[in-house]
Amino acid sequence: METCSDEIERARRLIAAASRIVVLTGAGISAESGVPTFRGAEGLWKQYRPEQLASPEAFVDNPCLVWEWYGWRRDKVAACQPNAAHLALARFALGHGKTLIVTQNVDGLHADAAREVAGDRDPAAALPVELHGNLFSLRCTACQHVWRDSTAIDASSLDTLPICPSCRGLARPHIVWFGESLDSGHVSRAFCEAELAAVCVVIGTSGVVQPAASIAAVTAQAGGEVIEINPDETPLTALSSVSIRSGAVAAVPPIFEGTSVSAPGRDS
Ligand code: NAD
Ligand code: ZN
Repeated sequence: METCSDEIERARRLIAAASRIVVLTGAGISAESGVPTFRGAEGLWKQYRPEQLASPEAFVDNPCLVWEWYGWRRDKVAACQPNAAHLALARFALGHGKTLIVTQNVDGLHADAAREVAGDRDPAAALPVELHGNLFSLRCTACQHVWRDSTAIDASSLDTLPICPSCRGLARPHIVWFGESLDSGHVSRAFCEAELAAVCVVIGTSGVVQPAASIAAVTAQAGGEVIEINPDETPLTALSSVSIRSGAVAAVPPIFEGTSVSAPGRDS
């Protein structure tokens, strides 16, 4: 059986040779920043599962409860920083214009890493497609206006919940909830890139939330390679030519840092 370092070296070579790369991340990449995953031990809040709170029905039923949960999650994430895995990916994506980071995470840590690494430069090449939204974006339930907000949430009564700055309608998190559709522009950007990519790197996702979980399959079906970084096996393991059974912080920097990139074209 190959050791983790053999697998890391194989992954490093695949990345170095790839002309286009798509990186799909999930909650696991932020676990070492202190953001709890859903399916880990800390996934429960009070007695609720995420599926009971992250839905349009739950919000209609009890907006204060849903906002209380989001307020708690925003506070947790606001205290977290991008880790070495977010930073290594951001540095790589900035230095290599053919990398697209697609995330299911709503914590904004990839974007924070992109801005931190870019400094005075434009961070655009390292900004992720945030398939499921962002904890710090709100949307008006009346006029659909979307805005950024990171102020504390007071969910003690309906009167104190966040409201729209333009029409004073009730605000909700600008997050894709269970049963809702993803932004079609985001989906087509992610899937087009998955088809063109020589390598899809899947980091810290349980691979059960669709359509994100299909991104790796699209790369594999188009002849590309899949690299998985996850301490546990997932349904995506079967698609992967390289499986790295470790946390993201140990695996991502050695794979992405110090690699040189070949000229355009599928695998060389
Ligand atoms: P998930 O919670 O279902 O799975 C997390 C995966 O990460 C697991 O497979 C686990 O083995 C792996 N993991 C745990 N620690 C890791 C580490 N240190 N390094 C690498 N991998 C590690 O997460 P998901 O697949 O992203 O799906 C959950 C859904 O919940 C998504 O829709 C997402 O929007 C949302 N969510 C987001 C956050 C966040 O923004 N950080 C956190 C929790 C849930
Ligand atoms: Zn409004």
